[in-house]
Amino acid sequence: MNKLGSSNKQYDVIVVGAGMAGLYILYKLRVAGFSAIALETGDDVGGTWYWNRYPGARCDIESLDYSYSFDPELEKQWQWSERYATQPEILRYLQFVADRYDLRRDIQFSTRVERADWDEDASQWKVTTANGDCLTSQFYVMATGCLSLPKEPDVPGANRFGGTTYSTNAWPHDGVDFTGKRVAVIGTGSSGIQSIPLIAKEASQITVFQRTANYAAPANNGPVREEHLQKLQADRDTYHEEARWSRAGVPLPRSEEPFFTVEPEERQRRLEKGFARGDLLTINTLFTDLVSNQAANDSVAEFFRDKVRAKVTDPQTAEDLCAKDFPLFTKRLCLETNYFETFNLPHSKLINLRHTPIESITETGIDTTEESMEFDSIVFATGFDAMTGAIVAVDIRGRHGIELKDVWEEGPKTYLGLNVHGFPNFFTITGPGSPSVLSNMVVSIEQHVDWITAAFEHLRNQGLKTLEATAAAQEGWATHVNDFANLTLYPVANSWYMGANVPGKPRVFLPYIGGVDTYRQACNEVVERDYLGFEQSGPAGFHCNEGVIRYVKPDVQMVLDLIASLEQPPLETLPVDQARAAMDANAATRAPGPDVGEIIDSKLPGPDGELDYRLYRPATAGPHPIVVYYHGGGWVLGHASSDDPFCRHLCTSSNSIVVSVDYRHAPEARFPAAVDDAYGALNWIAENAESLGGDSKQLAVAGWSAGGNLATVVCQLARSLDGPNISGQLLVCPATDRDFSTASYGDNAEGYVLTRNLMTWFWDQYCDASDRNDPRVSPLRAESLDGLPPAMVVTAELDPLRDEGNAYAAKMHAAGVAVQHIQAPGQIHTSLTAVDMVVSANDVRQAMSDGIRGFFQ
Ligand code: NAP
Repeated sequence: MNKLGSSNKQYDVIVVGAGMAGLYILYKLRVAGFSAIALETGDDVGGTWYWNRYPGARCDIESLDYSYSFDPELEKQWQWSERYATQPEILRYLQFVADRYDLRRDIQFSTRVERADWDEDASQWKVTTANGDCLTSQFYVMATGCLSLPKEPDVPGANRFGGTTYSTNAWPHDGVDFTGKRVAVIGTGSSGIQSIPLIAKEASQITVFQRTANYAAPANNGPVREEHLQKLQADRDTYHEEARWSRAGVPLPRSEEPFFTVEPEERQRRLEKGFARGDLLTINTLFTDLVSNQAANDSVAEFFRDKVRAKVTDPQTAEDLCAKDFPLFTKRLCLETNYFETFNLPHSKLINLRHTPIESITETGIDTTEESMEFDSIVFATGFDAMTGAIVAVDIRGRHGIELKDVWEEGPKTYLGLNVHGFPNFFTITGPGSPSVLSNMVVSIEQHVDWITAAFEHLRNQGLKTLEATAAAQEGWATHVNDFANLTLYPVANSWYMGANVPGKPRVFLPYIGGVDTYRQACNEVVERDYLGFEQSGPAGFHCNEGVIRYVKPDVQMVLDLIASLEQPPLETLPVDQARAAMDANAATRAPGPDVGEIIDSKLPGPDGELDYRLYRPATAGPHPIVVYYHGGGWVLGHASSDDPFCRHLCTSSNSIVVSVDYRHAPEARFPAAVDDAYGALNWIAENAESLGGDSKQLAVAGWSAGGNLATVVCQLARSLDGPNISGQLLVCPATDRDFSTASYGDNAEGYVLTRNLMTWFWDQYCDASDRNDPRVSPLRAESLDGLPPAMVVTAELDPLRDEGNAYAAKMHAAGVAVQHIQAPGQIHTSLTAVDMVVSANDVRQAMSDGIRGFFQ
């Protein structure tokens, strides 16, 4: 094996690791004309496939997909013998790649990197190895893999055992013969599930210590699937392009249907078919919501458990093997071959550590709380310090000597999983914050390597030396990664995705769950926008296009994408009746909102005829406080039930009666008709509070958008006209002023549902220019806001009305009004009322409910 004499060598790039990522980046860098060296602890290439040589080790993404795509010639020269290749075959493949491109000459084996320091003055990295070598480079790349640092076996007495111990992730190269041995295996993740059936074939006795049962699908391994091969060979470019723009890095059709919208028989049929297909990804593509909808997830999880029950003879063992502690998919699904059947063998035994925990490993075996068992060998299949472990195992110090381990003390933050603020020219391949382990690793590795190499070329071409993420860009990405994770069930599991398998590790969702396609798009956009969020500097100067690549909340973006896909004409281009019909049609597709105790549709006398109202009553015993609610719709659209889901939410969550009152709309009835009706309705409800089942002393108003405008106005009127006593006002994205010159109108003029054009149209329908300074139209222009009821003002970042809402909150505050002001980042005008659709606004909605409860205390 190669061992370069490398003391004090200078390179363009130092790479750590010669696994799949290290090999490919070496190749790319050479092609691009950079000098590079890879430092590798092992004595050959292969990375994870070099170390994890346990019996049964195989890929769990089909071999044809688990292959490099960068060179069609390479693909043509290599044939996989199995659908899921074994570890030896994958290792041979990586050795073949290393040889084919003569990569070993740039690899220094048997070399552990101990430390890497950014040298500010020289603008370069200084890398120190355990062999005492010191190497320098402009760029420093960690290609150390996501699952490479074994987790310490945290079992009491682990060192006491007098027999032989093995770790699946550091398996002897000569193999192990378990014939006639009494073997204990601790751990039932992918490594345990793959190795246990094969160890059982040799051992005289096998005892599996299971702390958490796992979900597993049958691998149904065999030869490479002929249709798969044909599809690939028919058009390799298209196939790979589809993989690159797929959700998980494998081209698979994706359902558009949520689980419960499909008939039960059809669901079952699809699940059976998906299960029988024998792969990790298919089942999760059958429905849209399996990782976000707990009930859907529960159903499919039960499907998996039934499969276990059907395979395992002893009912108690079967039940113990059924995964129940976490939602399906929130730990990596395992692929199994004869795993469950192994427990039907007379010489196998399952110990459920939930019932009988290990007390200690002893010199001769393992003591649980119930029995002492003797073994010849113990196999630890206890996993890895995933995603960050191998990176911070090197003492990496960026600007001012700051250590990465300290920076990541509360969890890793990166920009795109590629770079870290404070660590110029430092890159991680498939680092935390990128799709990595949630995708076909090869596709993600190739994407990162291509991006990184292109970035190096960009700097070289521009006469620049360093690239470093800004703090703001990194923070924005970290928020985006968390926002995505929080839309799913993943954070509830004690998984290695969450760092939860390593005692003391911060609980943070480590990979990016938005998908390979979405992620690639973000990375590409960063480049297209002149490396948005990166500082670029060197002899040719310094510049930075500061910014956050994804600030719209992911679920809001999904709504925007959906709306865009409908290609509806802008409302303001339609005749009013068609605009109203379009709004109602869209409303019909919303999630319905929570059940309330009672709904009454009725009418109340308004100043110019009857007005519809819809009353929502909580299921709890009354009398309840009353919230008079004014709907949105730009004074033109909408009606008493048009904000139905939001009203239901306010009713149940604040335990108040909500009376959504209608008012006359423009252009048929222009200003001040809506104001007169809104105020008239308030008075009628105040006078009739008790007959409505409410508490006459507890009355608040609320409104969204144009309804927020009316809510502010009725509060001002009630104050000036000695009207009803109002306990509080909830103003959600209120229109408060006729000024279109605010920054929020400029920034959010279009693209976020409520556009500047639409708002202009609403105003034109509602009132003449000459009326617009009237505080009953532009309440922000009221001479004084003294003496108004306590207020909660909620504004959305990406809303043209944001600044006027903010200004109204500030002006009330300055006038001595008790104001709670919530500014919702990444949300649009329509987010906050989109109950059960924009779940990222749930905390804001909760705050609104708390605010209403606060009015009544
Ligand atoms: P893992 O999924 O983290 O599983 C470790 C197992 O050890 C779990 O069952 C865990 O129980 C148990 N364990 C850990 N500490 C323990 C303790 N102190 N006492 C008792 N039990 C303990 O690790 P892995 O199986 O090595 O797999 C890690 C990842 O590597 C996989 O998710 C997959 O991404 C990758 N992998 C892939 C393949 C493949 O098919 N290509 C094969 C192997 C691995 P708890 O769950 O209770 O913590």
